[in-house]
Amino acid sequence: MVGKLYLVATPIGNLEDITFRALRILKEVDIIAAEDTRVTLKLLNHYEIKKPLISNHRHNEDKNEDFLISKLKEGKNIAIVSDAGTPGISDPGEVIVKKAIKENIEVISIPGACAAISGLICSGLDTNEFVFYGFLPLNKKNRKEKLEELKTENKTAILYEAPHKIKETLKDLKQIIGERKVTIARELTKIHEEFIRGEINEIIEKTENIKGEMILFIEGAKKVLLDNPLNSMSVEEHYKFYENQGLDKKEIIKKVAKDRGVTKNEIYKMFV
Ligand code: SAM
Repeated sequence: MVGKLYLVATPIGNLEDITFRALRILKEVDIIAAEDTRVTLKLLNHYEIKKPLISNHRHNEDKNEDFLISKLKEGKNIAIVSDAGTPGISDPGEVIVKKAIKENIEVISIPGACAAISGLICSGLDTNEFVFYGFLPLNKKNRKEKLEELKTENKTAILYEAPHKIKETLKDLKQIIGERKVTIARELTKIHEEFIRGEINEIIEKTENIKGEMILFIEGAKKVLLDNPLNSMSVEEHYKFYENQGLDKKEIIKKVAKDRGVTKNEIYKMFV
C-alpha cells in the first residue's frame, strides 16, 4: 500500500496554536520532513512526540522529492512541516505536492495557523477579496515590477516582509502607488503582537526601528481611481503628462492629486 502525504500546519509563535488532528498526525506518520529539524524538534519535544525527522528546505526540496516519493511508495506516511505556519505558503511544500499528485499519491491538508490569514482578519481592510504576494523578489527590477502591479490592484494585497526592509518598501510604495491605507501585523500570536494601521505616510513614521516578524496589508486601489488611465503611470510620468500640456506647477499638482485621490501636499512633497 502506498503511503499518504500530509501537509501539517504548525504554530506561528504561540505553541498552543496547533490542532488536535495535527498532533495526532505527527504522532502517527512514519517520517516528518521539516524545513529546519531543530525548530521542529522544539515543537515535537513540547508535545512529547518522537519521530524520525528529515530535513526538507528550500535548497534541497528538489533533490528530496525522489527520496520522499520512494518512501511514500514503500508505504510510509509522511508529514511535511515548515518552521511556522502552513507549508507551501512561502515555505517548502509545493514541489513535493506536485510530484505526489503526478504519482497518484494521496495528499492531505491538515489546516492550522497561517500568518497571512491570521493578520488579514484583523487588518481592518477588505477581507472579501484579497491577493497574496508573498515575499517581494530580491532582484531590483522584478521588485519594482511587483510594486507597480499594486497601482491597479483593487483587492487587499498581502506581502510578507522582513523588518529591515519594511521602511524601504513603504517609501517605494508611497512613490509608486501614492497614498493608501496599510496595516502592519507584527509578531502575531506572540507576547508583542501588534497591528499598526494608517495611511502609508503615518506608518513610515511609526515603523522607525520596528522589529520582529511582520506582514504588510495594502488597501486595494479604488475603482474610481482605476478608471483613470493616467493613474496607471508612475507619479513622475503623470506629472510630466500635465507638464507637457504647458500647465504650471501649482495646477499640475492640483490635477495629479485629484486624479490619484490624494492631497496636494502629498504630491507636492514628492516634487520638492
Ligand atoms: N508558511 C508561513 C505561513 O503560513 O504564514 C509563512 C512562512 S514565511 C517563510 C515567514 C514570513 O511569514 C515572515 O517573514 C513574516 O512575514 C510572516 N510571519 C510568520 N510568522 C509571523 C508572525 N507570528 N507574525 C507576523 N508575521 C509572521
